[in-house]
Amino acid sequence: MEYQILTQFYSRIEKTSRRTEMINSLVQLFRQTPKEIVDKVVYLSTGKIAPEYTGLEYNFGEKLAIRSLSRILKIPSHEIEKKVKEVGDLGEAGRLLYESLNFKPEGYLTVEEVYEGFLNIAKAVGIGSQEKKIRIFTSLLRKARAQEVKYLLRTITERLRLGIGENTILEALAIAFTGSSTNRDILERAYNLCSDIGYVARVFAGKGLEGVKGIKIEVGRPIRPMLAERMGSPVLILRKLGGRCGAEYKYDGERVQVHRKGDEFYLFSRRLENITHQYPDLIEFLKEAIDHDFIIELEAVVIDPSSGEVKPFQELMHRKVKYVTRYHILKYPVAGFIFDILYLDGEDLTLKPYPERRKILERVVKRTERVDLVPQRVIDKVEDMESFFYQAIEESCEGLVCKSLSSESVYQAGKRGFLWIKYKRDYKSVLADTLDLAVIGGFWGKGQRRGTFGSLLMACYDPDTDTFKTVTKVGTGFTEDDFKKLEEMLMPRKLNHKHPRIDSILSADIWFEPFLVLEITGAELTLSPVHTCGWGKVASSRGIGLRFPRFTGRYRLDKKPEDATTEQEIIEMYKMQRKIKVSFQKAEL
Ligand code: ATP
Repeated sequence: MEYQILTQFYSRIEKTSRRTEMINSLVQLFRQTPKEIVDKVVYLSTGKIAPEYTGLEYNFGEKLAIRSLSRILKIPSHEIEKKVKEVGDLGEAGRLLYESLNFKPEGYLTVEEVYEGFLNIAKAVGIGSQEKKIRIFTSLLRKARAQEVKYLLRTITERLRLGIGENTILEALAIAFTGSSTNRDILERAYNLCSDIGYVARVFAGKGLEGVKGIKIEVGRPIRPMLAERMGSPVLILRKLGGRCGAEYKYDGERVQVHRKGDEFYLFSRRLENITHQYPDLIEFLKEAIDHDFIIELEAVVIDPSSGEVKPFQELMHRKVKYVTRYHILKYPVAGFIFDILYLDGEDLTLKPYPERRKILERVVKRTERVDLVPQRVIDKVEDMESFFYQAIEESCEGLVCKSLSSESVYQAGKRGFLWIKYKRDYKSVLADTLDLAVIGGFWGKGQRRGTFGSLLMACYDPDTDTFKTVTKVGTGFTEDDFKKLEEMLMPRKLNHKHPRIDSILSADIWFEPFLVLEITGAELTLSPVHTCGWGKVASSRGIGLRFPRFTGRYRLDKKPEDATTEQEIIEMYKMQRKIKVSFQKAEL
């Protein structure tokens, strides 16, 4: 398949600000794609080379790209740099240079060879790898036309900026191969179990829906995490869970999914990145504690080994480095509190109810100082939940996760549902919880901040329509350092128009591809005539906005934009907050 077909598609997507058009273009693209390479087309369209968990990255910065261009065009690097500055985008600069120099490509590019080339670039590591990467890239540039160069450059420097999300891909795949989006759920379930959208696409294109239904969990391939809903009172939680639940401590650390097969270990973060290198010590502790092959989930926290006391979340951030050394291990010692098991010695446990999974954990885990199960208590009284909650807070936890004990309480991979309900300390204030919102736009600053942005437009996620809906405009809580960091992170994701997956009444000065999630707090959620979150769902011609928003300082790099707080959660929080306000007012009377 000619690479040109893909770049024509990129160019169409880049111009549209309508999601339906985005889907239609994708459907057309999938229909034109030979079945055997549909996975490659999926990865390339999302700007990737393989699923995130493989950890494969190009590691090919703008400098290397410019050096490669310079070799091909036989002009000095500084001239190319000048052009990039002038047009503000490497891809566009490359395209213009190819045109003005009337570059004649040698032959033509195929999707297969572009993918192969990119894959080899990503795999090249160690001594001499830079030169090898440049050599492979120039061999692609040599065969490229002007339009293709633009996207080769953007892809390799990880700035494709099309923002095609996984849900959009799944919907388009369903339409392309079965004529309607009704089968999206089956694809989604398979994706939730294997976290590899390219693989799902290839199986679907080759073996149809039956093939997709056959996709199973596998050690080494992360399972998309099950998530909790939130509720503001033990009474409501117990009612929702049928009068009884298993309440567990909610530790505030890092969620880690650990896979083991013999001596092989794979550790995945909440957003399914491979973080095995970050916890060599935890791996040793787990070897000691569980003598089986398994997939478990735990919360990793830094502890004081002498007292066993759990340290604040910020301490764990010191372990977020490329190379964890003895220094990190001794200075920031970690412990793992296990809360679920999904697989044991070849058996998939995800369809077993939670009480059974917990029992299995109790049987197979040998508790040590560094590996333990999260404290759990079966609770059927409001007072017991309150006292267990305060006990958890005393022990530096955020609160509780209350879990259904019913026979239906399976592990719902990739889903947020009421089988798990979180009950946190913050829920006792008027704004029930902090929000994790995606940055989708910016507004120019005034005074000292002139010339760069002074506030950001923030959005929640609506999985039903796969769109981002605005909730607030935030300009406080940022330090000068934050602004610098944000500019560095956001500017490469700048778009010329509103992204097709953004639903906004407000018009931002700069639009961004949704990719960065920030934790935002505020005074309260109120009805709003300008924000689109919950539009028409709690009041006609009104949405829900957050008043007096403030950045908490926490970058949620562990979340993708699609992991931002959902529209439905905000609607629930708005309702919950009204109840809390009424109870405050009653208490004051
Ligand atoms: P938050 O920002 O509140 O951590 P989240 O969106 O990351 O929320 P949720 O599913 O809403 O995830 O809340 C559950 C999170 O709490 C899990 O992702 C996990 O990291 C953490 N956690 C801590 N203790 C437990 C536990 N006992 N059971 C399940 N999750 C737990």
